[in-house]
Amino acid sequence: MPTSNVSTASTTKMSKKITAIISLGTLLSLALIESNIDGSGSQMITGKHICVAAGGRPIIPDDVAGAEFGIDSDGFFYLEKQPKRVAIVGSGYIAAEFAGIFNALGSETHLFLRFDSFLRTFDPMIQEVLMKEYERRGIQMHKRCTIREKGIEKLGSGAVRFNYDDDGGKGTLEVDTLIWAVGRAPLTPDLHLDRVGVKTNEMGAIVVDEYQNTSTPGIYAIGDVTGNWELTPGIPSTT
Ligand SMILES: Cc1cc2nc3c(=O)[nH]c(=O)nc-3n(C[C@H](O)[C@H](O)[C@H](O)COP(=O)(O)OP(=O)(O)OC[C@H]3O[C@@H](n4cnc5c(N)ncnc54)[C@H](O)[C@@H]3O)c2cc1C
Repeated sequence: MPTSNVSTASTTKMSKKITAIISLGTLLSLALIESNIDGSGSQMITGKHICVAAGGRPIIPDDVAGAEFGIDSDGFFYLEKQPKRVAIVGSGYIAAEFAGIFNALGSETHLFLRFDSFLRTFDPMIQEVLMKEYERRGIQMHKRCTIREKGIEKLGSGAVRFNYDDDGGKGTLEVDTLIWAVGRAPLTPDLHLDRVGVKTNEMGAIVVDEYQNTSTPGIYAIGDVTGNWELTPGIPSTT
């Protein structure tokens, strides 16, 4: 946390040395952060050391017609009632987790995979055992799925219709909720890292070394914003 002399209603003194400022931060120049508190005005905060930990956001595809009729993992937490029929698109641990939850709760659950398995970066034995177990429990796996041009349609009943191709051929499915779990993107665009020379990779993630140093001395980055291990404990990358 950069040092600061700010003292407004939107700041919380957490200890003698830590003040939490509830606002969006943007890097203005080296060691200078603009912090727009509650949209009520900006203030500048300087710091000799700046650590960026902005995390990521779920991706909703921008090339699928009707993609906006699906929800993302944030929307999952806002669901007010359990969908009776649910389709989850994705193959990572979030997709696998959601499919397991809905199936355990008794929803008709469909999981749409791009290839033949989920958790493809995990140990093959884990993939194989879990795929079998999910199928045994009644989760309907749609392998080698692509979304047809018609994409996703919203029906008068409130349900959504999903038009796809999978290893079984052309298909159409009506569900109460469709969830995108197709990956997350680092929340770097609004930080203006270019102003301070912090390098990002082709995914927009901040490039760091094994000690979390960015390409700019005095600026560090940790967590999902670095795109390495997207896990709460933030295990340092070995790659
Ligand atoms: C559905 C789901 C299930 C998960 N399950 C697990 C699990 O079981 N185990 C596990 O280890 N991990 C799990 N994860 C991953 C885990 O949540 C993340 O790896 C972790 O939260 C990353 O921490 P972070 O601090 O890097 O980012 P975040 O937790 O995303 O925190 C970043 C914060 O920065 C704020 N922010 C962003 N931009 C700005 C800005 N410009 N100014 C000010 N603030 C800003 C954001 O609002 C956010 O509050 C899960 C994630 C999801 C989505």
